[in-house]
Amino acid sequence: MDNLYFIEGPAVISFSGGRSSAYMLNEIIQAHGGALPDEAKVIFCNTGLEHHETLDFVQECASRWGVHITWLEWRDKAIFGTAFDVVSHNSASRNGEPFRALVRKRRYLPNPVTRLCTAELKVKTIERYCKQVLGLKEWNSVVGLRADERHRVSNALRRNETSKDAWETVLPMAEAGITKRDVSSFWQYQPFDLGLPNINGSTPHGNCRLCFMKGQRTIMAIMRLDPNSADWWIDTEKEAGATFRSDRLSYADMKQLSQDQGDFGFEADEGLPCMCTD
Ligand code: SF4
Repeated sequence: MDNLYFIEGPAVISFSGGRSSAYMLNEIIQAHGGALPDEAKVIFCNTGLEHHETLDFVQECASRWGVHITWLEWRDKAIFGTAFDVVSHNSASRNGEPFRALVRKRRYLPNPVTRLCTAELKVKTIERYCKQVLGLKEWNSVVGLRADERHRVSNALRRNETSKDAWETVLPMAEAGITKRDVSSFWQYQPFDLGLPNINGSTPHGNCRLCFMKGQRTIMAIMRLDPNSADWWIDTEKEAGATFRSDRLSYADMKQLSQDQGDFGFEADEGLPCMCTD
């Protein structure tokens, strides 16, 4: 059988800074004999709301595996004259600046139906970089969706059939039948790991810190451990005069509740799967 991690170029490997996409990146590097071919680029998009552990992990994967990872951040073109900037571990935003700037520009908050943040801060930012900097017209987009993420896998494959995008999404982990259990076992035996809790193969703290796609119990559990993490979300809702979700409490109310007595657990959570990968 062909090695599913042998990537045909030109290709962009989307690295979310999570364990699954790092697992995939490692497999791809190994499939190419220890070094990525020139026509494969690895991109990490920083929203400014990732945990510092995620940023450190992205940096550590690059240095330990000898691979260049391009860090991108969305910019308001009307102000900066460019729709994205290339940043680094040192210069990356850490207080949600790109996300807040996007909300101000578009004058509304993303929500589970219209995930403006994923679309602009990640998908379109990568697309603009590929076209404007790499000069690509078409490419393979390699994404770390696993076999146990069936709904998201079938959505991605359905999207391919529409030929709407300049890229075709390639899902080697899903094709190889890799599940979160495989990813967890891999990281158990590595000399380094993402410094965020791994709970039954999931990373409730992953991606944007209090992403509205996470379940309310997970959000409140994180708030209980780190009350200050709520501030950006509370301020952003206040400034917008709206809430990220109409079907649940505001971030201010969740913070209040999280400080009261109660039992908030990650495992009992029924969060919608975030469109940003683990
Ligand atoms: S993690 Fe959540 S808040 Fe962040 S970009 Fe993805 S959907 Fe938006």
